Amino acid sequence: MEPRKVYLDNSATTKVAEEVLNAMIPYFSNDPGNPNSLHQWGRGARRAVDESRESVASLIGAGIHEIVFTGNGSAADNLAIKGSAWADKKNRKHIITSAVEHHAVIDTCKWLGKTGYDITYLPVDEFGMVHPETLKGAIRDDTLLASVMHANNEVGTVNPIEELGAICRERGVLFHTDAVQTAGHIPIDVSKLPVDMLTMSAHKMYGPKGTGALYVRKGIKLVPLVHGGGQEYGIRSGTEDTAGIAGFGAAARLAKRLFEEGEETRVSCLRDKLLDGIIEKIPNSFVTGHRTKRLPFHGSVCVRRIEGEGILLRMDYAGIGVSSGSACTSGSLEPSHVLLAMGLDHATAHGSVRLTLGRDTTEDDINYVLEKFPPIVEILRKMSPYKGG
Ligand SMILES: *Cc1c(COP(=O)(O)O)cnc(C)c1O
Repeated sequence: MEPRKVYLDNSATTKVAEEVLNAMIPYFSNDPGNPNSLHQWGRGARRAVDESRESVASLIGAGIHEIVFTGNGSAADNLAIKGSAWADKKNRKHIITSAVEHHAVIDTCKWLGKTGYDITYLPVDEFGMVHPETLKGAIRDDTLLASVMHANNEVGTVNPIEELGAICRERGVLFHTDAVQTAGHIPIDVSKLPVDMLTMSAHKMYGPKGTGALYVRKGIKLVPLVHGGGQEYGIRSGTEDTAGIAGFGAAARLAKRLFEEGEETRVSCLRDKLLDGIIEKIPNSFVTGHRTKRLPFHGSVCVRRIEGEGILLRMDYAGIGVSSGSACTSGSLEPSHVLLAMGLDHATAHGSVRLTLGRDTTEDDINYVLEKFPPIVEILRKMSPYKGG
């Protein structure tokens, strides 16, 4: 029998959908044009880029001239933050962000902090949520930008960006949100939201890796990070990745269809079954992040007195792909800055496990995980130096 494989790491990346791949293939070799060339090959490529821009814009209620394609979500975050900081006509030097942002935002802010900018990192509550009052209290006369993520990648909590954006608008402060986890998964309509810039990444919504986009509200000026041929309205020079962009467009159209089919409800029911099952079957485990103001596909838990890495490796051996909170990207075992900001102590934060579902996750998959996960914890607890597990 084929060993069962259950991929539950969709917050890290998603599988490219079949229709996305099909939309991309021609632009790797059959249709070789540069979208900036005037001949028929170039015009064909330009058409593909334009169509995708329309699809991505339409997914979030933006105008086509408000979408700038970038190399990935990280590049879009960098462009939003550095680009608006450097473009500020009033030369304001204060930027607000939150303590739980993705590194693409937090490290960009930290770096600006070393070059003469003053950065405020807003605290979060025990669910990882940023409260409007804390933002209100942090705005100063020299605040130029606030960047607060739409939903957190580690614990799935969705922030009240409508209220956060409204506060910024009232005070003449730009508002950027990193929507990499939400775009294509929960409906977004920038024509109604007080958001000035919004980051998306194709590979978190069944598109290809290496293609992102920044929504830039009409009238907002950014200083480009890449100078050159003036592509993407002069904000992001370089020959467009036609295949990647065509894939992003197809992913945006797929996302619209998934909303219509009720995928959000289907996947959140499975997610709830998984989380309820885990806390019922595994003693001393609890859900991290908000239970309801949460990404529909996102589950995250902490298992006390266990290392998340140990769980990850044994789950991997059982054919289940999950991630642990203390992602040792730097080779260190520092627990996640998100869990610490939520008030968890180091030891508990080390036991975090993230299980993020996708559109091909089935009820059988969830049953399989609920069968395998508890005995793995039991074994690890028997081996653990901590007593009383
Ligand atoms: C994945 C992710 C990013 C980075 O996107 P890339 O396309 O991988 O660079 C940024 N922010 C959040 C919240 C993410 O989950």
